[in-house]
Amino acid sequence: AKVLLTGGSGFIAAHVLNALLHRGYTVVTTVRSKEKGDQILAAHTDVVAQSRLTYAIVSDISQKNAFDSALANQPGAPFDYVIHTASPFPASFENPLKDVLEPAVNGTNGILQSVKQFAPSVKRVVITSSFAAMLDHKNPPKTYDETVWNPVTWDEAVNDHSLTYRGSKTFAERAAWDFVEKEKPNFDVVALNPPMVYGPVVHHLGSLSRLNTSNMRIRDFIQGKHRDNELPPTRNYLFTDVRDLALAHVKAIEVPEAGGKRFFVTAGHYTNKRIVDAIRETHPELSSRLAQNPIDDLPADVYGYDNSRVKEVLGIEFRSLKECIGDATTSLLEEGA
Ligand code: NDP
Repeated sequence: AKVLLTGGSGFIAAHVLNALLHRGYTVVTTVRSKEKGDQILAAHTDVVAQSRLTYAIVSDISQKNAFDSALANQPGAPFDYVIHTASPFPASFENPLKDVLEPAVNGTNGILQSVKQFAPSVKRVVITSSFAAMLDHKNPPKTYDETVWNPVTWDEAVNDHSLTYRGSKTFAERAAWDFVEKEKPNFDVVALNPPMVYGPVVHHLGSLSRLNTSNMRIRDFIQGKHRDNELPPTRNYLFTDVRDLALAHVKAIEVPEAGGKRFFVTAGHYTNKRIVDAIRETHPELSSRLAQNPIDDLPADVYGYDNSRVKEVLGIEFRSLKECIGDATTSLLEEGA
């Protein structure tokens, strides 16, 4: 079967691409430039030789009709599935609308519109949403599950930078469900909602300064940034391993009953102290760079999580924090941390 994967240059998408190729799919991935596309092909020469991997350039997902030609002008078999991961997750930004909200929301509306118009063979579109679209700080539930939505308003997302990214994921996912309801397309939609995603880097990085946002804290810990001072607050106390999330993306296209559902893809609780412990246990040689007696800031009354749907419907078994952080650390050391 043939899949369009958006944002193939990203941290998560590179793992999704590996999982798709491993399971025999033919993939066209979208990237912002020829350089990024060529880097992906260079990492998969065997699959390229089998004509199972190509790329299409979509330079800005905010633009109207951005995905039209990627979907319409493909030689060979028609597309069966689309996986939409491309969306900004910046460590910092200047313009909330241009840099974050518009690419997220227009990108989601745009891919769905283009699929409807140009790729009638597509049966399902999987959207990489986020726990950010569920987080309810004002009125937190005892246990987070797929019924919970972030109540953030558009104005809050535009005016409060700390809510912009969360708003972008909330409004993008809402746009997807609204599209299905209004447009009644031939395809169904699945949303995956992971919290903080950690794990090994397999995409082309070039420089550790360009590391994706979630893995930055592991890099900082390894590089000794918090050796002599307190760890930063953990904030959202849930994580998932990128490889488990990648498999969830593939299962989301394969499992018929997944259609029309959102999935809370989380392995469980974690804290920054537990990340440091995992680095120390798996890489004792780094011990002197790590915080010596960090505090575990998991609140006694921390919210619970219900990940039964992703385990039961998609059959995902989650890696432990130790395995996740240990392998992330090994990979960041290889990248020069
Ligand atoms: P990355 O920053 O590594 O990947 C983001 C991808 O989106 C890149 O391919 C990037 O392209 C592309 N992109 C961003 N803005 C645009 C734009 N305006 N036009 C075209 N392409 C764009 O982050 P992740 O892999 O972590 O994120 C992937 C998805 O997962 C996002 O939807 C994110 O919200 C979601 N997510 C991530 C979590 C995490 O902890 N990492 C947690 C929950 C959800 P380029 O490489 O050229 O910049």
